[in-house]
Amino acid sequence: MEELEQIAAEIRACTACILHRGRTLAVPGEGPADATIVFVGEAPGFHEDQQGRPFVGQAGQFLEELLASIGLRRDQVYITNIVKCRPPGNRDPLPDEIAACSPYLDRQLALIRPKLVVTLGRFSMAHFLPRARISEVHGQPQRVGGIICYPMYHPAAALHQPALRRTVEEDFRRIPEVLAKAEGVAEYQPPPQPEQLRLF
Ligand code: SF4
Repeated sequence: MEELEQIAAEIRACTACILHRGRTLAVPGEGPADATIVFVGEAPGFHEDQQGRPFVGQAGQFLEELLASIGLRRDQVYITNIVKCRPPGNRDPLPDEIAACSPYLDRQLALIRPKLVVTLGRFSMAHFLPRARISEVHGQPQRVGGIICYPMYHPAAALHQPALRRTVEEDFRRIPEVLAKAEGVAEYQPPPQPEQLRLF
């Protein structure tokens, strides 16, 4: 879609926060313009920064395995991050960086109008559910600003923690069921503020 590519071009040229200084390539996101599911991670890592593509490292491989477990390929979903440029040394993104970058995500979601937004990790979750704790809400779909948000732990966090890995796998397996129930929810509007209704 032309408008999504327009946003991607703006992201590649963006200097709105300090992260532009250290990036090799910005990582706008990729996937079908009419994707039913959008996955939102935290920020690009080393490999993503090198290639300009989201989730291409180890966590990306795990994400692809998770997608395969529910019969999906990565080219059938849209994948992006809450922050589009790599923080130095893979540190956590800072609040002002998230504030500068998240309008791009809102614009992407407004165009794609997915049925389901799966947040991976606490930073993308906090954009939709600012007061939530991931340990309490992971795997529980919530209606926010006209979308269904499904918070999950970040696959990278689960890679070396067997217990968390099982949790991520279990939460992921529920996505088809959550998606089926999300059908019919109104189109996306940026989250004004938490009107968090537990759905199921
Ligand atoms: Fe712009 Fe986002 Fe990159 Fe900051 S992280 S420079 S706001 S695209």
